[in-house]
Amino acid sequence: MNNKMKIIPIFVPHVGCKFDCVFCNQKRITGKGTVNVNKQYAIDIVEEYRKTIDENTLTEIAFFGGSFTAIEKELQEELLQVGHFYKKLGIVQKIRMSTRPDAIDEDILKLQKKYNVDIIELGIQSLDDEVLLKANRGHTRQDCFNASKLIKEYGFTLGHQVMPGLPGSTRESDIKTCVDSISMKPHMVRIYPTLIIKDTNLLYMYEDGTYIPLTVQEAVDVTSYIYSLYMVNNINVIRIGLQNTESINEGEDVVGGPFHPAFRQLVEEKIYFTSIYNILKDKNIDDRQIKILANNKEISNICGQNKANIIKLKNIFNIKKVSFEISNDNNIIEIYINSKKLGSFNKHDIYKNYLNN
Ligand code: SF4
Repeated sequence: MNNKMKIIPIFVPHVGCKFDCVFCNQKRITGKGTVNVNKQYAIDIVEEYRKTIDENTLTEIAFFGGSFTAIEKELQEELLQVGHFYKKLGIVQKIRMSTRPDAIDEDILKLQKKYNVDIIELGIQSLDDEVLLKANRGHTRQDCFNASKLIKEYGFTLGHQVMPGLPGSTRESDIKTCVDSISMKPHMVRIYPTLIIKDTNLLYMYEDGTYIPLTVQEAVDVTSYIYSLYMVNNINVIRIGLQNTESINEGEDVVGGPFHPAFRQLVEEKIYFTSIYNILKDKNIDDRQIKILANNKEISNICGQNKANIIKLKNIFNIKKVSFEISNDNNIIEIYINSKKLGSFNKHDIYKNYLNN
């Protein structure tokens, strides 16, 4: 089996959702207009994806894009039956869904168990009641705690989605949300800095000046901190930033906010910078050359977008040249001047180093 999980996303756009969160235009986010969501819709998507997936690849069906467990029970079962069918045949190994915290109770979870669902991701967005109110979420912080507890008690894998930069939030309240989310011990997290999408109430708030989005730099700053907090607590951050699909591009559907097509890399490069800076800060480089020994996979994050980190390091420390040598070691990054080692750090320590800075 190929260990990298392949996702078959089945978008359930706004079906079942009675709410109108200020940031959401679900039809646009999922890249779908009006769509007839039913059993055949789900089967067609799975069959289409199957043509491109090798049978030895681990595969997961993911019901994304709406509030899955808020859908009327008959349609929910229709869709779940499709997932269950392919899982029983061994064609898919996992079933995942995303939903709202207040659309979770014992009956709903029993239904998900009956159809062998594995992962439930909760859009908690913020754990500050005032921020939730301003975002018109229609649920409270307590709903997030109750739902998370129940999901874990029923043995599902729990995911949290958080949105820094919502109306009324501050850097401190976004960090507090992360700390409170960690206290619930989710197995995985997605961090989506708030973007302004066309045809949303957030856009109107932006236009009348009642909402000021984060800049890219502010979003990278708070996300780097939150991401590092999750990582040092051994919680897997499976996505940072909104996926750049055909329908979500700056100037098209995203009309404001901290959009960047490689947002995660901006975050990774900021975190790496701190660890390298800490090694160099008390050394005299003085117009000499340094060499960084690192695994191939890490080099782009170390360099940064358009070599931003290299340029910054050269300017700060008056470094003549930065060169790289590929290491087979996945974890250790070493820095040399001539053949003298200046220092090293473990890849897993970069988050701790960032938080301690
Ligand atoms: S609950 Fe989800 S689908 Fe419904 S409006 Fe809010 S973000 Fe959109």
